[in-house]
This record gives sequence, structure tokens and C-alpha cells, in this order.
Amino acid sequence: MQVPATFEYERADSVTHALELLERYGPEARVVAGGHSLIPMMKLRLAQPEALIDINGLAAELGRITVEGGELAIGALVRHAELLESTTATDPFPIFRDAERVIADPIVRNRGTVGGSLCQGDPSEDLSAVFAALHATAVIQGQGGTRTVPVRQFHEGPYETAVGPGQLLIQLRVPVTLGTGSAYEKVERRVGDWPVAAAGAVLTVEDGVITRAGIGLTAVGAAHFCAPEAEEHLTGRPPGAEAFAEAGRIAAEHCAPSADQRGPADYKRHLAAELTRRALATAAGRI
Ligand SMILES: Cc1cc2nc3c(=O)[nH]c(=O)nc-3n(C[C@H](O)[C@H](O)[C@H](O)COP(=O)(O)OP(=O)(O)OC[C@H]3O[C@@H](n4cnc5c(N)ncnc54)[C@H](O)[C@@H]3O)c2cc1C
Repeated sequence: MQVPATFEYERADSVTHALELLERYGPEARVVAGGHSLIPMMKLRLAQPEALIDINGLAAELGRITVEGGELAIGALVRHAELLESTTATDPFPIFRDAERVIADPIVRNRGTVGGSLCQGDPSEDLSAVFAALHATAVIQGQGGTRTVPVRQFHEGPYETAVGPGQLLIQLRVPVTLGTGSAYEKVERRVGDWPVAAAGAVLTVEDGVITRAGIGLTAVGAAHFCAPEAEEHLTGRPPGAEAFAEAGRIAAEHCAPSADQRGPADYKRHLAAELTRRALATAAGRI
């Protein structure tokens, strides 16, 4: 049986308390939310934090989904299952429903959190592509105050994020715009598995022309989980099959997939193009 190395355990009762505990225990302390990524890593000794700061008691501060000032605000402690069931989130952005239905299984979704998913920074993580497609903003808090970071700058590399030592991811914010449609397409080897490849699309159309496009990609080596060149191709064009196929081609061209147990690189590149095309078509149909 694999067991983690010994560690101190503290349960935070507020965000302020969690930040104090992080400062007290220093850079070797780690936050634990759902624990679905961190605990397996600790059991394998890939992570050996000296202290775990449990933030599961902070639902009042970090577990809400609201609309504030024209933005959808999703707390970092919102569970996957809560996001899946939240019509506040899924009515304006069905991309959340598409993605959450195929993230892991109900056991993981009942416990795993939005913040934990993003902070884990796994290159195959689904919500990173979703929030990249949505041009979302991450709110990070430390002892010195809060700052916002575009989600497209949040991931600094595999398993590396903009959340520094002593800081917490607090919230994700998504601008709510009229005339927007969204969708997510994923290929997985079996139900509940990580993606072989997946693509999210968000389109805003005004007067028959795409005024804003968002494309998110995961598991295919897309820099910062997005496809800006394909978005640029779409902006200013009317939505349509030809434009979507070309955007998929451009998105795939800028990916750098790696061959692994989930498939060869050329298959993943093919999926990047095809899933982008399908997500765009579904998003346009939902406007
Ligand atoms: C069997 C299985 C299948 C899975 N399948 C998928 C899948 O198909 N697609 C997918 O995208 N994911 C998948 N996952 C990953 C799952 O979604 C994540 O493990 C989970 O959501 C991470 O969230 P958590 O709350 O459990 O994070 P934790 O494990 O608690 O934390 C993960 C990391 O984030 C840090 N952290 C957590 N919250 C914060 C915060 N608020 N501020 C700063 N740092 C924080 C922790 O310190 C840790 O480093 C799967 C996981 C399992 C176990």
C-alpha cells in the first residue's frame, strides 16, 4: 500500500486564516481542496508537502456561483458536480455542461473542485481549455491583496501556475455577453477517462458576423490551452462550415501533441482540427 510521507494538517476556517496558515508553514505547505490530484501524488511521493492547509470549510467564501457586474463568478471551491448542475453557469454557457458531464466520474466530480483543477495545471485538464475559450480571468489572493490574471496567462508550464507561494486561487470570472454560443467536444478512450484530445468554442455574433471567438484546446500541446491564430481567422467573418473547418485546421497546425498511451501525435492533431470544427458548429447553433 502506498502511503504519503508525514505532514502537518490544518483546517482553515476563512480565507484570511488559510493565508495566515500558508505564511506560517512557508513554501513547503500546500492547499488541499478535493484532494483528487494532490493525495494520489502524495501517496506516490511525487509531492511531499510538510503541511496541508485544508480549505474545504471555506464554501461560504469560495463555493458560490453568482453573476456580479456583468460577469459570471465561480468560486475556486465549487465542485465539478455543482458546476454541472448550476443553471446560473450552464444556461449562459452550455460549454460547462458539455465539459463537466465528461470530466472523470461522479465520485471525482462530487469532490474535485474548479480551483484544484486549474491549480493542478495538468496539460490534459478539461476546465483549463473551457476557461481559455471563455477568455476568463483568475482572481488570486495573498496576504498583500488580490490580483487578476487572464486565464490564458495563468498556466506558466505543465503543473506550473501564476499562483505563488502563500497565495490562493479565489475565483474565476467570465464576461457574460449577449449573442454568445458555446460548446465542448472531447474524445476519451473510455467513460470517465482523461481526454485523448478536447476542444471548446465560444462565439459571439453581431449583425451576422463573428465579433469574438474563443477556442480552447487540451491534451494536444496548445500553448496556454488556446488557439489565437484560429480565433483571428474567424473574427470578422460570418459563421459557417468553411470558416469553422479552416479554423480547425489552423488550430491543429499550432498544436504540439505528444504520442503517449492515449494515441499517436498525428491522431491527436487530427482530433484537434475535427473537435474544434465540431465545437464551433455547435456553439454557432446555440447562439
Ligand atoms: C480518476 C480520475 C479521473 C479524472 N479525470 C479527469 C478528466 O477527465 N478531466 C479532467 O480535467 N480532470 C480529471 N481528473 C482530475 C480531477 O478533475 C482533479 O483531480 C480535481 O478536480 C482537482 O481538484 P481537487 O479539488 O481535487 O484538487 P486537489 O487535489 O485538492 O489540489 C490540486 C492542486 O491544486 C492546489 N489547489 C487546490 N485548490 C487551490 C486553490 N484554491 N488555490 C491554490 N491552490 C489550490 C493544491 O495545492 C494542489 O497542488 C480526474 C481525477 C481522477 C482522480
